[in-house]
Amino acid sequence: MTKNTFHLTSRGCAKNTVDSDSMAQLLERDGYQVRKSPHPKPIYHLPDAPTVGADERDTIRASVAGASAYLKIADGCRRPCAFCAIPLIKGTMVSRPLETLLAEARTLTEAGVHELVLIAQDTTDYGHDLGLKDGLAVLLERLTDETLPSPISKKTGGGLDWIRIMYAYPGYITDRLIEVMATRPQVLPYLDIPLQHAHPATLRRMSRPANVDWVYKTIAKMRAAIPGLAIRTTFIVGYPGETEEEFQVLYDFVEEMRFDRVGAFQFSFEAGTSSAPLGDPVPAAVKEQRYQRLMELQQGISLQVNQSYVGQMLDVLIEGRDKDKGISIGRSYRDAPEIDGLVLVEGNAKIGSIVPVKVTGAMAYDLAGTPTLL
Ligand code: SF4
Repeated sequence: MTKNTFHLTSRGCAKNTVDSDSMAQLLERDGYQVRKSPHPKPIYHLPDAPTVGADERDTIRASVAGASAYLKIADGCRRPCAFCAIPLIKGTMVSRPLETLLAEARTLTEAGVHELVLIAQDTTDYGHDLGLKDGLAVLLERLTDETLPSPISKKTGGGLDWIRIMYAYPGYITDRLIEVMATRPQVLPYLDIPLQHAHPATLRRMSRPANVDWVYKTIAKMRAAIPGLAIRTTFIVGYPGETEEEFQVLYDFVEEMRFDRVGAFQFSFEAGTSSAPLGDPVPAAVKEQRYQRLMELQQGISLQVNQSYVGQMLDVLIEGRDKDKGISIGRSYRDAPEIDGLVLVEGNAKIGSIVPVKVTGAMAYDLAGTPTLL
């Protein structure tokens, strides 16, 4: 163990990765040096995302990975989800100032970033604490109006090429947000909206919005307004009190909705959360069986949805190469970094470029294609 060095391993989702990057920046600012390999005996094990103090929130910076960058627009959460410890750990939602985000987006665009991935615990709550109405839509309007043209690709007519919205909260997709997504070409037709369940009784026990009718209507409205909309969602199976009938409602809902991407988690109790009185009564074997059933269902749906893209053109952001196989590896608008699928592109496309690709093959999670321009 060397003094004044650190190695940070982030094992969570993109939100955790960005938090880890922020923490790394604070440590480096205070004179600590990054160590590439882990220390044999870690001193601190952070049980969840590192906590960033309120006075340090302005130091949060976007996490840049090649031509794609995360832009954290807020931190903390004021929702009451009974299973979640994040509000206890991080406190209530604090938005980063609009002008700060615009300046950061301009800097990233000038540095060659093609894709901005907007993240927060709940992106649809952005600006509430700043007194903004429809804050996320306002932010997207300003970002698309005011960011500089990308130096590499100007095909969208100015501004960033791709802006992706992650972690929307049910009930807060407004008509203005839908209009922004439908009319601004840089805002990708992609929405990540963790729904967590589809049975109203389960949702009520989760202290989540239980108006499933809203979900049906809003998704139908979005699909009508935004051609090709790709939707990612996540569900918890085995939540306390989830009956076989409640799970079946969730299963049928997933079958009916045909989401592009579905993630599922087996319920695991987090200390201090308000689900404590419910206990954890669903046996582990039942959780596992429900998880497997849901994932198998979605695998088939995902394959069918992917197959519907064969023969179509998709823009692909190239992020890597497999020299042995002679292919380039990238993502289309349907693929958020780190969590969704990939597009395997024949040949050596330029890393960091956006390439039009004709889709020639489909797998459950990934697509294969041929570039039409190299
Ligand atoms: S699950 Fe998401 S929206 Fe709910 S409290 Fe946790 S961070 Fe907030």
